[in-house]
Amino acid sequence: MTSLQSEIEQRGRRIFELVDKHPESLFSKAGFYQRLMALSMRDEQLKLQLFRFVDVLPSLHTSGEIIEHLQEYFADAQDSRKLSAFLEAGVRLAGIVPWISGPILRWNVSEMARQFIAGRNPNDVMRTLRKRRTQKIGFTVDLLGEAVVSETEADEYAARYLDLLEGLARETKNWTDPLGKNSELFPGVNLSVKISALYSQINPADPADAVAHLAPKLRPLLRRARELGAFINFDMESYAHKNTTLELFKTVFSEDEFRDWPHVGIVIQAYLRDSEADLRDLIEWGGARGTRFAVRLVKGAYWDYETAKSRQNGWDCPVYLQKPESDANFETLTRLLLENESIVTSAFGSHNVRSIAHAQAFAKELGIDCSRFEFQLLYGMAGPIKGALVEMGYRVREYCPVGELLPGMSYLGNGVLPPSNATINMTTTPPKIQPGAPYENAPLTNFALPENQKKMRAALHEQGRQLGRKVPLTINGEKIWTDKVFSSVNPSQPDQIVGYAAEADIPEAERAIGAARAAFEKWRRTSFEERCQLLERAAEILERRRFELSALEVFEVGKPWAQADGDIAEAIDFCTFYARQIRLIGRPRLTQNVPGEESYQHYWPRGVALVIAPWNFPMAILCGMVSAALVTGNTVIMKPSEQSVIIGAMLMEIYEEAGVPPGVLNFLNGKGSVIGAHMVDHKDVDLIAFTGSREVGLWIWESAGKTREGQRELKRVICEMGGKNAMIVDSDADLDEAIVDSIYSAFGFQGQKCSALSRLIVLEENYDRVMERLLGAAASVRVGNPEEPGIVVGPVIDEAAYRRILDYIEVGKSEATLAYQAKDIPPHGYFIPPTIFTGVKPNMRIAREEIFGPVLSVIKVRDLDEAIDVANGTDYALTGGFFSRSPANIERIKARLEAGNLYINRPCTGAIVGRHPFGGFKMSGGGTKAGGEDYLLNFLIPRVVTENVARHGLAPEKTPEYRDEFL
Ligand code: NAD
Repeated sequence: MTSLQSEIEQRGRRIFELVDKHPESLFSKAGFYQRLMALSMRDEQLKLQLFRFVDVLPSLHTSGEIIEHLQEYFADAQDSRKLSAFLEAGVRLAGIVPWISGPILRWNVSEMARQFIAGRNPNDVMRTLRKRRTQKIGFTVDLLGEAVVSETEADEYAARYLDLLEGLARETKNWTDPLGKNSELFPGVNLSVKISALYSQINPADPADAVAHLAPKLRPLLRRARELGAFINFDMESYAHKNTTLELFKTVFSEDEFRDWPHVGIVIQAYLRDSEADLRDLIEWGGARGTRFAVRLVKGAYWDYETAKSRQNGWDCPVYLQKPESDANFETLTRLLLENESIVTSAFGSHNVRSIAHAQAFAKELGIDCSRFEFQLLYGMAGPIKGALVEMGYRVREYCPVGELLPGMSYLGNGVLPPSNATINMTTTPPKIQPGAPYENAPLTNFALPENQKKMRAALHEQGRQLGRKVPLTINGEKIWTDKVFSSVNPSQPDQIVGYAAEADIPEAERAIGAARAAFEKWRRTSFEERCQLLERAAEILERRRFELSALEVFEVGKPWAQADGDIAEAIDFCTFYARQIRLIGRPRLTQNVPGEESYQHYWPRGVALVIAPWNFPMAILCGMVSAALVTGNTVIMKPSEQSVIIGAMLMEIYEEAGVPPGVLNFLNGKGSVIGAHMVDHKDVDLIAFTGSREVGLWIWESAGKTREGQRELKRVICEMGGKNAMIVDSDADLDEAIVDSIYSAFGFQGQKCSALSRLIVLEENYDRVMERLLGAAASVRVGNPEEPGIVVGPVIDEAAYRRILDYIEVGKSEATLAYQAKDIPPHGYFIPPTIFTGVKPNMRIAREEIFGPVLSVIKVRDLDEAIDVANGTDYALTGGFFSRSPANIERIKARLEAGNLYINRPCTGAIVGRHPFGGFKMSGGGTKAGGEDYLLNFLIPRVVTENVARHGLAPEKTPEYRDEFL
């Protein structure tokens, strides 16, 4: 055994001995609640329900509400049984007994919170800190609060930090260092700051913007901290904010004013795979800066969140999946820190005895005095370990959350409890992906990664150089230039022409239909496998050209970065998903197994498909409809929207490179009202796949119903139209989420998604609070040219849309109350200020008609019944949303809200292929679901072939379930 290992073991034994000497009393409150937590943690379902209940509790006002929620959360027989443990333990949460009352319950949960939250406010926390002082335990204070959704809230938070700092400094003026040695490294007052509390618009794609906003907010706090001799530590939150936090730290503390200030620290999370590289970088930075700084090394508290988030988005998981890997990395980083003791002061934030003993032993090996580093442990936990460390002569500091008890409780559920706490399961491995089983979407680009930010900037630069390109029509594989040219402009800068497109007229439309008709016979007899491979090659090209195409979308339709990337990802998904689906349904399938007769159902393509697409998802929707038509064996004329014709031309290029045969896919740019209308009426068009406005959609639906001379088929129309989407905010909703998600759903991509939120329905009970936070959040949203990363609201598509939306705003002003309108918007370009109307009644025009811009109507209602009536009271049924923490109300909404896509406790936009098949009903569409399992059936004619296979009564014994295609 190495000497280090034996030293670690010896120290570990010593800590345990001391812990055994002063165990947490079984009957102490701390011991009791810790065991209670541990109990709930052992049972995943119970843990979830308990945290959910604790999470909603602060928003419940009456005993009745509390008891209702309790019943809903724990009514399940299994849960009640599990809860009996709590009953015995004294909390008496379970089985609703008549005498239980709201206040008792709130008191119980508050008591529990008190074990983990050091105080409600600066005064309150002092009692705790004084007590700890007598135990020779220091503190770092963290302010709890609601998530910051607006700049007003961020300013309030900054003021609270300052207040806390002043209070702590005043109260601890005469406190001396517990060890009396190397005290200059460890100021008594230590404040932990979360950057997300100081700026509501942090966008991982835009660290520079975050730093530019955060630095001025931080400077007064830092200045004052320095004057008061305090220490400031930057906390680390989720991975998405990591690079920004590091960047901010290095930027601010390199400034002349703070460069020689040693009392600043930052957190490194050992569960992150990047952490060693980050720490090395920090140490190098610290060396160059020439003044010490501090690092708190922790394992990391957002493990569940990071693993779920990365799996949802198809990203590489940033955290180690096995707990021992994080533990081992913690030791690696411990050594790195201690080896650089001359540059960095270490704080080891772990409750794990092995991690602690290792740090002690390694420091000893390097001859570092135990007063030159510290251990930081969470308030309310691991009391005996803290005692042991003090007794051994080490510095101990507690991480003390301060804030209101009940709202603060959710911080325990939000992952602040570190996974090093044995109760949190770190060993969960993601389920193995079965071969051929679940469909995998193309991952979204993670713009938190600097390399992706760089690629996007480079692509924007390159696209900027290629502005003004010219694109032809493509008919039967030939490039065709016409006399008329159509120019597509950048809505952020209308004098900038993104490209010129040859414009088709009736003769070109006729030629395209002729070419598609002629190509049909051969294409329909091409095996579906070949057609699948065409789509898969197209997907690969889309992936290869991903940044270029996203950048083009920023210019042509004003999409913010992540939205543009999402559009290309969705196009890729449509290709791979439909290829997969046709493999599932493409082969003839036996209908019933009867002796002597074989009946196989299979599908034929319909014929010539006309695809008419909108501009708002310029690649995804066009590509989705085209790919579905092609893979099912139809030949296609694609007509993109006039406003996004260059992106449409790119799709043609991609399919040509993928090898689509001449005539199978034809590209026509032109006016919808001219060539579009002509082709809809054409006898040789068998299928129309349309996505766009209600007005055009209804006309197509009607017109396609007329049978023309020489027409072979009844035309099939796939018709996806607009929406007037509503989101209901229940009285117990989590407003941190409801506000952020409503703003994003209403104003993301300027409200130009068919799924966008346009009616926010709020119950009168929490109307005032919702509005206060909503208006603040709206005022904080970033409006500007989407070439800048992190812009949420860019320009609307063109001048006509700009004028129409402004007219609607005038209508709104005459009908309702203008509650908010952004002022600071770019002077040129089609920018519409995000606008919110209140006092809106369901019968008003702004509550009934699709506006398709950043305009939100807020409707106040009495109760949930009225909310449902209002939500259902329009002609549309596309998307809908509900924010609530009442399981019973959630069930009611699931059953009653009229929406093709209903989203609960999340934004109502952002459907993902395969996961959220998309499409509405009523006047929103014909009930088809793009990206769903049955979508392809719309492009197909089902056929059954029956054969008598018996000869003189002699029949084959077995009939195969599937047959080869009939080609
Ligand atoms: P739009 O109806 O103006 O245009 C859609 C397409 O139809 C364009 O290609 C256009 O050239 C063509 N067109 C116009 N007149 C035509 C005619 N007479 N005959 C044939 N084609 C014609 O819609 P838009 O402004 O491009 O898109 C916005 C609309 O699309 C919104 O209403 C939005 O809600 C809706 N939309 C719906 C979905 C959905 O899945 N339900 C998705 C995206 C957009």
